[in-house]
Amino acid sequence: ESRAYASQCLQALDTTAALLRDCEAMLGDMDAIAGDGDHGRGMVRGSAAALDAATVAFERGAGAGSLLAAAGDAWADKAGGTSGVLWGAGLRAFGERLGDAETPTPDILAQSVRAFADRISNLGKAEIGDKTMMDALLPFASSFEDRVLPGAAAEDAWAAAASDATEAAASTAGLRPLKGRARPLAEKSIGTPDPGATSLAMVFAAVGPHFTA
Ligand code: ADP
Ligand code: MG
Ligand code: MG
Repeated sequence: ESRAYASQCLQALDTTAALLRDCEAMLGDMDAIAGDGDHGRGMVRGSAAALDAATVAFERGAGAGSLLAAAGDAWADKAGGTSGVLWGAGLRAFGERLGDAETPTPDILAQSVRAFADRISNLGKAEIGDKTMMDALLPFASSFEDRVLPGAAAEDAWAAAASDATEAAASTAGLRPLKGRARPLAEKSIGTPDPGATSLAMVFAAVGPHFTA
C-alpha cells in the first residue's frame, strides 16, 4: 500500500516537472521584470532533478516520504537560486513529516503541508505581504487545514486550498517586494505577480489529484 502512495508521489513530481517545462518562459519573463529572469529555468532544473532522484529512490523501494525527501535534496542541489534552495528544503520537510509507513490521512497531509511552509519560512524569513512564494503558500496551508480539520475530504480541501492560493498569488501584483532579488527594483514589480508565488500556486493546483487520490 505504501508503494502505491510512493508511486503517486512520483507521478506528482512527473506532473510538476512537465508543468514547469511548459511554463518556463512565462515564469522567466515574470522574473525578468524586477528580478534576474531565471525563475523558469531554475524551477525546470530543480523539478527535473527531483524527478530523477525520486525515480531512483522508487526503483530502490523507497516509501513516499523518503522518496520526496530525496527529491527535495536533488531540487535544492540542482536548481540554483533562492527558490530552488527553499523548494528543496520544503520538499524534504514535507517528506519527513509524511513518512513511509502507510497511506496518509488528510490530517497527516495537512501537517506535511505545514512542515513544508514552516521550513521555508524558517529559512527565507519572509512574511505575508513581502511578495514572495509565502504569499501563496501560507494561504494554501491555512485553507487546507481549515477544511481538513472539520473533516472535509482531502481531495476537496486540496482543490479549494489551491484555488485560494491561485487567487492569493494573483493578488501579489499589487505588492512591492520586500525580500529577494526583486527588492532593489521594487517599483517595477508593482502590477506583476510574484513569480515564486505564481509557480507555487500552479504546482500545488496540479499535484492535488495525485496526493489526495
Ligand atoms: P533568484 O531570486 O535567486 O534568482 P528565483 O528567481 O528562482 O531565484 O526565485 C525568485 C522567487 O523566490 C521570488 O519570486 C520569491 O517568490 C522567492 N523568494 C525570494 N526570496 C525569498 C525569501 N526570503 N523567502 C521566500 N521566498 C523567497
Ligand atoms: Mg530569479
Ligand atoms: Mg537568480
